Amino acid sequence: MNKVEFTPKSNSQENVLSFYKEPPNQDIEMSLLGKYANERLQVLREIEGAKLQGLKPTSKEVMKVITKHLPIRSQATKKEVEKDQISHFILRLAFSQTEESRRWFLSNETSLFKCRWGMLSSNERQSFLKRINFGHKFFKIKNEKLREELEGFVDLENNRFCKVPFEDVPDMVAMKRVFISEGFAKFLPQIWQDKRMKKLLDGLKDSYSQSELASSYFSTSKVNLKDLVWLSARSFPPCMERLHTSLKQQHHLRHWGRMQYGLFLKGIGLSLEDSLIFWKNEFTKKMNTKTFDTEYGYNIRHNYGKEGKCTNYTPYSCSKIINLSSSPSEFHGCIFRTVKHESLALKLETVGQDQPERVQKILQLSQNKHFQIACQQYWLLRHPKETTGEPISTLTGTIHPNSYYNNSIEYYKRIQEQSKNKKITQNQTNQK
Ligand code: SF4
Repeated sequence: MNKVEFTPKSNSQENVLSFYKEPPNQDIEMSLLGKYANERLQVLREIEGAKLQGLKPTSKEVMKVITKHLPIRSQATKKEVEKDQISHFILRLAFSQTEESRRWFLSNETSLFKCRWGMLSSNERQSFLKRINFGHKFFKIKNEKLREELEGFVDLENNRFCKVPFEDVPDMVAMKRVFISEGFAKFLPQIWQDKRMKKLLDGLKDSYSQSELASSYFSTSKVNLKDLVWLSARSFPPCMERLHTSLKQQHHLRHWGRMQYGLFLKGIGLSLEDSLIFWKNEFTKKMNTKTFDTEYGYNIRHNYGKEGKCTNYTPYSCSKIINLSSSPSEFHGCIFRTVKHESLALKLETVGQDQPERVQKILQLSQNKHFQIACQQYWLLRHPKETTGEPISTLTGTIHPNSYYNNSIEYYKRIQEQSKNKKITQNQTNQK
């Protein structure tokens, strides 16, 4: 399937900040869908990262990613509005699967909304609220008694208030961010939002499966078997590097290790044929070929959709890997969660001798259970020549081990390109 058709009615008049009440209804290429969804995910990850580090979601780094992927303009193009709505809609579907993912999505989308809301002018805010027509009323405070009560708290001359039934905004009532009069909560529109945002998560019926989204992490190029050794040391995320090393040492991996690593290898472009050779080479150092073929070969073919229900399985995401439990004799899982502090410190100090501050930061993040942020920092530790000035989530994209890998490959391509250009410039200078 190359195109997805959204069937419900359209809402065409959005501009500046879109806020659809009905799902988008245009056809869209699968590849574009994945691109939109991934870019919005990068923004949400950046917001999450900022919050975990105690920064405001409105920090410079976050605003840079928002401006890059989901800009707010007075005259938004049709394409920008489409991107905003579709990316939101598809993530809304993808993150509707569990209570935990719903909460994650809602929390970061709310922060994103606040950031983008803050980018609007007062007029744009009012026209936005009018356009989406939530039944609110704007008014200026005229009543003398009220004016006296509110004097000093807000600028009464330059602000117009919003009036809604108070039961619609319990969060704001609890936080004393409204004043209540005659059954209505009255507040400045700048601080309006949460209850409405929750409505975005309602009504999921025709689901787009997570695997469709995850398929966008598949590498578009192929990987040769002979390149796995150097690639694992250079560009694999640490969880996969660990599985690779353990397999080479033990000539065996248990079920979850085989699943985690096997699907990752599939995702980076290792063919089924090469995958069978790779696993067989290692396992048959401990068992005969017949045992391997009957006990393990089937599962490898199964992962590639060649056995059983013929499902095209996708590589595990970080959140799935982080939540896998493991025993001390197993090597799967996220190393920032499963490896003991002392062993992790030893590994990091070995690879990051010249970056002791970053090493400490990673250890701290890992101890505080911010595993994916620790991994983003690890990516920077391993790719020290990064000079694009891109925000960290754009570079590392560690919502998924395969995006860690893809971004590493891109990094080395950039480095190669830079040194090629440098040589050309040098040659040209020498010839003059
Ligand atoms: Fe692997 Fe993700 Fe953990 Fe990094 S954060 S080690 S990519 S599971």
